Amino acid sequence: MDLKTLGWNSFFKEHFAGIEEKGLVPARVVEEMKGFHKVRDTQGEYLAEISGKIRFQAEEREDLPAVGDWVAIALRAEEGRARIQWILPRRTKLSRKVAGKAQSEQIVATNVDTVFLVSSLNRDLNARRIERYLAAVWESGARPVVLLNKADLCDDAAALAAEVEEVVLGVPVHVLSASEGIGIPAVQKYLVEGETAAFVGSSGVGKSTIINALAGEEMLRVQTVREGDDRGKHTTTARQMIFLPGGGIVIDTPGMRELQLWEIDEGVQQTFEDIEAFALECKFRDCGHSGEPGCAVEAAIRGGELQRERLENFKKLKAELEFQASKVDPKVAQERKERWLKIHKAARKKGNRI
Ligand code: GDP
Ligand code: ZN
Repeated sequence: MDLKTLGWNSFFKEHFAGIEEKGLVPARVVEEMKGFHKVRDTQGEYLAEISGKIRFQAEEREDLPAVGDWVAIALRAEEGRARIQWILPRRTKLSRKVAGKAQSEQIVATNVDTVFLVSSLNRDLNARRIERYLAAVWESGARPVVLLNKADLCDDAAALAAEVEEVVLGVPVHVLSASEGIGIPAVQKYLVEGETAAFVGSSGVGKSTIINALAGEEMLRVQTVREGDDRGKHTTTARQMIFLPGGGIVIDTPGMRELQLWEIDEGVQQTFEDIEAFALECKFRDCGHSGEPGCAVEAAIRGGELQRERLENFKKLKAELEFQASKVDPKVAQERKERWLKIHKAARKKGNRI
């Protein structure tokens, strides 16, 4: 497999050329498992360890290799093993916050060009969820594409697609019936040689069916690898990076499937550009669009230019972001605490009990 088929391009080439250490070769991380990485170069696949330098300098999870990364490896070919010496800069990065005592970032995949947001046209279709995923994808740097699957189960797919188009503001929307192979060529167009894609969406919407259709066979079921563990038993795991016959690449890590809320911030603004534009006309610069005088956003809702549900989702996502930020940023946490104290005090003055 040549470098281009693995997803190599001038961006990585340039960064690789800047590495002064001699004797290294470029490879892509195709799988991450407990304690080790599997990398692939033009010659084959190897188990890779991480160099002491990377380990030692890593302050966060983000500083360690993730599926999709391009790395520079030193090969010990005779043993079929490799050592990861450098991680090349990432073009895109899909990550999510991991709940716990402190917020930490978990990278779901890197260097993904296109993220397909998959919904089913029967009962799964939910504009608010699409907005949420969309915000996350914009944040990652990848290009979002919306896929509405199971058109065969829906009486008026075109009307629903038109509704979704209104919500996603210029993001491509494709209608599919993956189990019948309908709409697959439209997806294929994004997966030309060396392009990397990922599929997100609720369980059961048809992601595996779409990937299998692209692969032209029962890839997810067929493409499994056997791993020998210490005790000589075998476990079977699905491939995390799938090389399609047409040249495209699909990343399908467990994290990708479980994805809830990624790190979103600017992504929210980009997803809700229309609301941000209305908000410029609000009387108060920090208008919360909740009954303030001169609120242009609420005026837009009254005028039928904006859906109330869309505004509510925007507020909810903003609040969640702020909450996440407060977990990592003590200053924000303090501000939030003070604000709540004020609210409590005000309520007490009014004689309300909270
Ligand atoms: P995933 O969890 O998102 O990977 O979903 P799957 O690909 O496993 O699909 C879930 C179920 O939906 C399976 O039974 C598929 O056969 C079915 N399915 C997938 N695509 C379609 C479609 O276009 N129409 C219909 N009617 N069923 C589909
Ligand atoms: Zn307002």
